[in-house]
Amino acid sequence: MEIAYLYCIFKYMNKLYKPNTGQYNFVMAYPAVEEFALSSLGYMWLYKIADTTDGINAIRISTDSMNINAKEINALAFSMSFDFDYLGVLEILDKLHIPFYSEERKDNYPLIFAGGPVITTNPRPYEHFFDFMIIGDGEEVFTKVLNILKKELSKQETLNLIGNIDGVYINNRNRTKKNTVKLENIIYTPIISNKSYFKDTFIIEVVRGCMNRCAFCTASYTNLPFRYYDYEKIINAIELGLKYTNKIALLGAQISSHPEFDNIMKYIKNKIESGQKIELGISSLRTDSVTPDLIKTLVLGGQKHSTIAIEAASERLRKFINKNLKEEQILNAIKISRENGLKGLKIYSMIGIPSETNEDINEFLRLAKKIKEQNKGFNIEFSFSTFVPKPQTPFQWSCREETKSLEKKQQYLGKELKKLGISAKFSSAKWDYWQTVLSRSDNKITPLLINVYKNGGKLGAYKSAAKQFDIDTLKSIQGFKFDESLPWDIIDINPTKQHLINEYKRLEKYL
Ligand code: SF4
Repeated sequence: MEIAYLYCIFKYMNKLYKPNTGQYNFVMAYPAVEEFALSSLGYMWLYKIADTTDGINAIRISTDSMNINAKEINALAFSMSFDFDYLGVLEILDKLHIPFYSEERKDNYPLIFAGGPVITTNPRPYEHFFDFMIIGDGEEVFTKVLNILKKELSKQETLNLIGNIDGVYINNRNRTKKNTVKLENIIYTPIISNKSYFKDTFIIEVVRGCMNRCAFCTASYTNLPFRYYDYEKIINAIELGLKYTNKIALLGAQISSHPEFDNIMKYIKNKIESGQKIELGISSLRTDSVTPDLIKTLVLGGQKHSTIAIEAASERLRKFINKNLKEEQILNAIKISRENGLKGLKIYSMIGIPSETNEDINEFLRLAKKIKEQNKGFNIEFSFSTFVPKPQTPFQWSCREETKSLEKKQQYLGKELKKLGISAKFSSAKWDYWQTVLSRSDNKITPLLINVYKNGGKLGAYKSAAKQFDIDTLKSIQGFKFDESLPWDIIDINPTKQHLINEYKRLEKYL
């Protein structure tokens, strides 16, 4: 027993768990390169669940790493985190010579399904590609699905059983309730790898969702209620990670919302001060909770730069989106970051939030000027995306501003910030347009997706595909009325549609 266990540790050196095995070839596909697959905590955790399930032979593939052919696969699962991930899904199916439409895949093809944030937010644009989809938190549903799959029943019998699980959506067959789990078993990087985008890093999920509920934010709204792991579980996970690496990253939409966040940071700070080498990674700081102690801990943990998100150009707009961040809180967070050892900050905001005027943009420039004057020698960089209205949020009905008008605002901001000596990066308004189309479409968009993939996935391919297949993309851009049915109404969302309407109406007073 002892020797067998040691053999496992040797054979699977970078796996922090003991794998199981079996006859059923279950393939977990990541629709991008392996470097990103290894850094995706949700995907890797589900792979670990499959890899530890008795009877299952779990295999990972990515767009750049596929040593398998379709005949060997019993089932194939995709994790989709970003709207444009469908291109990677089609690339993998194409390389495996598997038809894109589920209706064209008879019993001689594997069962193919998907889950992840994109599918949870709106599965409709992708439903023709999959036999079924998992809506909401994956870990429990995924285990139930694996247990059915490994019975090796016919495709139809398998789908009949899987279709009864809460949180599973089968194209044209059912509505589904978004699945929400209690956070009990803490999730952390199960395979530490130097091939990961976050090289040799042990990532720990600290919270799920965010209690702020900014009105555009799917990370908050699709993960309600806001949940967090117990302090002890987080500390135990940190200790586990430190046995394998000194790079620890804490993950969550807003980790400083954890009620014991200060104590977690104190624990890490004490360890570093008592001689333990820890490189600490935290993706973004909540602007109104930046404290000297927090910054000192990040600096001790080797962080030189960090990010704060102010989200909107003016205080009025920040109230409208429910961000409620005041100018003095922003200035204070920057001052604390500078005075306590960070070398610079990235400040993230959006352009094109409904009702945004030139006055809002000019208010932003006045703030940028103040930031520059008060923080000489501190490296400030602005990063802007354009507003993309998303399903399951109070802004799911909103109109998106025209691309030309957004580009004009970007040019103006870029020019004025340059005059102030501040560097700024802008997302592409044209790509953000298509992101809006993808995220608010229904299943009529399928031919467009396939055509764009076949034509290289470039921007120009979208416009010509929309024309060729006569797909009305304007509907997704112009938005919806409150009483209209929405493509993603097939999901019983939490909070309800009425709650989202009430929240929108509450915020309307800032228009
Ligand atoms: S604070 Fe950030 S993560 Fe939280 S709701 Fe707002 S945008 Fe989303």
